[in-house]
Amino acid sequence: MAFEGVLIAFIVAGLLFFISLWLYYDRRDKIYYDRQRIRHIHHCVKCGTLYSTHEEKRQMPCPACGFGNPPLHF
Ligand SMILES: [Zn+2]
Repeated sequence: MAFEGVLIAFIVAGLLFFISLWLYYDRRDKIYYDRQRIRHIHHCVKCGTLYSTHEEKRQMPCPACGFGNPPLHF
């Protein structure tokens, strides 16, 4: 009886360990790939250059002329 209890506790602890690893890596990969995937597109009203950035700011400077432009919204 005691051996079965220890065995069940060992199996449950192992399952909890693997589930916690799965949740940790799933959340980490989601944050990592969202950071790479999500881009903000800007159109420079001064020189017409179209550029994109990973950062979410109200205005990003144009790489060609340095003028700050807001992101495009679709
Ligand atoms: Zn520009």
